[in-house]
Amino acid sequence: MHEMGITQGILEAAVEAAERAGADSITEIRISVGELTEVVEFALQFAFEALTPGTIAEGATLVVTHVAPRSRCNDCGAEYDHDRFTMLCPECDSLNVTLLQGRELQIDSIETSEEPTEESQG
Ligand SMILES: [Zn+2]
Repeated sequence: MHEMGITQGILEAAVEAAERAGADSITEIRISVGELTEVVEFALQFAFEALTPGTIAEGATLVVTHVAPRSRCNDCGAEYDHDRFTMLCPECDSLNVTLLQGRELQIDSIETSEEPTEESQG
């Protein structure tokens, strides 16, 4: 399951960034995932749940933004959204196109808390 490795990388980067910022815990991590990466959100969430206990991101929410593929035609200049199977220009049927987005796999933002977590009341 390659989502486990991806999530591990995201988590390590987020923890490093939060610690550098002096935060005690991470409450939310927002990421963008291009549809062309074929990463499955369910698997990301599953891996996140499995990997966060014992880290400062324990209990944090993973928010996934899906990015639809978008390309620009190099022949007629049209920009258009498309699915992962069809990149053909809808204006002139050209295949001479450049992918603008859809392969993202990045951290957008990290919400942290500097307050020490309160002990839960019994
Ligand atoms: Zn075109």
